[in-house]
Amino acid sequence: MKRLHIHCPYCGAPAVRRYGRDLFGDAAADPGALYYACARHPVCDAYVSAHKKSGLPMGSLADPALRRKRIQAHAAFDRLWKEGPLTKKQAYRWLRGALGLPEEQAHIACFSHYQCDRLIAMCSQTSQPERAAA
Ligand SMILES: [Zn+2]
Repeated sequence: MKRLHIHCPYCGAPAVRRYGRDLFGDAAADPGALYYACARHPVCDAYVSAHKKSGLPMGSLADPALRRKRIQAHAAFDRLWKEGPLTKKQAYRWLRGALGLPEEQAHIACFSHYQCDRLIAMCSQTSQPERAAA
């Protein structure tokens, strides 16, 4: 697996790839899951999930507040295609158009607070997103 040399955006320490059991011990929801975490974790509580196959991070390291915000944004977005009329593919197309993002940046794991807030607001305003996606 390829390793990325990235740094924690909060404190500047290197980010290291670690398993869930190494990061969270007995509290790990998935001991075998991969993460990129700040080398100073848990003093600096910043991490992001990594893809199991490639080992690459799914987005940028996030502190607890940003992790909560991304979960909220994902829940708002997922409702569009889980409960709404869109397919998942259409929903991501709508997301890219609504936020003006190229495909490689249109991942909620990469989003900032501001982008999460915008997405949450747009999802709640978008009663008929299928029009935007058409
Ligand atoms: Zn850090």
